[in-house]
Formats: sequence, C-alpha cells, structure tokens
Amino acid sequence: MSDWSPQYVEPIYVKPTYAKPPTPAYLVAPLAPAAYAAPRSKRRIDLYLRLIISVGFGVLVWLLLTNTTPSPWSASQSEFVEIPVVEPAGPAGAMPIEAAEAFAATYTAHLDSHGSYVESGQEVARAFGAELVWSDYDTPDPHSPCRHDPDATFEALAWYCSGEPYLLHLNRTAATMPQVLYFPDFMDTVRHELAHLVIHQRCGTSEPVEGTVELEAVTSSYAVLYLGADRDALGDATSAYAEYEMTTQTDETATWIHAGVCW
Ligand SMILES: [Zn+2]
Repeated sequence: MSDWSPQYVEPIYVKPTYAKPPTPAYLVAPLAPAAYAAPRSKRRIDLYLRLIISVGFGVLVWLLLTNTTPSPWSASQSEFVEIPVVEPAGPAGAMPIEAAEAFAATYTAHLDSHGSYVESGQEVARAFGAELVWSDYDTPDPHSPCRHDPDATFEALAWYCSGEPYLLHLNRTAATMPQVLYFPDFMDTVRHELAHLVIHQRCGTSEPVEGTVELEAVTSSYAVLYLGADRDALGDATSAYAEYEMTTQTDETATWIHAGVCW
C-alpha cells in the first residue's frame, strides 16, 4: 500500500438500549381530523385507559431499569471518560502477538472508577501496543495520514486506519457516545478494532481478502475466535450491516489468517 491505507469505519451499531430508532412515518403523519372523534364519555374512558396503560408501562420500565446493572440511565453515562494517551503508542509497548492474543482472549472486563469499560478497553489495547483515542470523524485531523470518506452516509462509532496502526479511534461526536462506554459490548468494539490491527500485522496488508470475502465480517470472526469478543453480542450489535455478518466462511478465513495464510 502507499502512504496511506484505507481505514475501517464501524458504523453506529444498532443498540436498542440506547439508540432511539427513527419514528415511523405513520406516527409522524397527522392523524385524521376530528370527523371520527369519539363521543365525550368514550374519550374520557380512553383517557383513563391510557393513563392506566401508561402507569403500567412506567412501572414495567422502572422494574427493568432497576434490574439492570449498571442502570442504562445513570447520570455518569452522559460523561465522556478521559483517555490518557501514553506516547508513543507502538510496538515497543506490545506483548508478542501470540501472548497479546491470549491476554485479550482471557481478559475479564471490569468497570472502572467512572463506571465505564474504558480502562478495560485500554488495558486490552495496550497488550498490542495500541491506544484508544478520542477523535472527531467529521473534523479530520489535518496531520493524519488517514482519509475520511466525505460521502459516508452512516455515522461512525469507531475506526481503525493502518496508516496509524497503533491508534484505535473512538468518534467523540457519535450519537451513541458516550453511553456506549458504559456497556460491556464496548469491549467487543475494541476487540473488533484490535482484530483489524492484528490482521494487518499477520498479513502485512490491511486488505488480505479483498474481493473474496467481507473483510469486516472476517475481522469480527477473528475478534471472536482469537481476541475474546462475544459472538452473539458482536453479531447483534452489527446485525444492521450485512458486511459484518459472520459465517462459517469468515470464521474459516480468520483461522487461516491466524495461521499466517493470507490471500
Ligand atoms: Zn471494522
């Protein structure tokens, strides 16, 4: 590859716990005018029913939230977690690749003092000599060798660029930031980005299987098979994007790449 290499941008994952889906058109469209308005007494009953249903729903939601740890609505989740960057990121601080993979595969994430998984993500990344960094996808760093796609129609959550091989970028301006940091599947995102790095290292190119199989799905397969990512969680989080769909073929390709066979 030349001076810069393509980057792998992870679109915002579908996360019903904190991503609000767009309101369907039929809910946005104005209702038919009062020609069909119910009689006054009927309307009042409707109102009571609605109140009861609302209260019931509120209790249900409350019960669900109080049974969730950590609560998805805790105040801390609106806080960005500072990520102290240790300079320079790079191979000098990395474990040998096999040891780093074993470390990631068996690593148990924990909540840090902010109640987030940032510290755990950073610990796993550092085994590979990598650092998590906050970036703004919509305002590219002019000093970065990596290009952004100005025509991207999705919103970026995180990205990896082999032009800056030891940085895992988190998009500060993503709609689901910083809430993402407080959910355990943040670790799956980190492991997926690390898999891009490892594949680059093992194959010497960032696109070893271009045109033969979906590289994003191979990357997820690699993260699951060798870096401890949760297959179900990663699959669910990326289910809106066909190119991330793991298959037996992408698993097999990941296995070959792990063995150093790249084509
Ligand atoms: Zn990716």
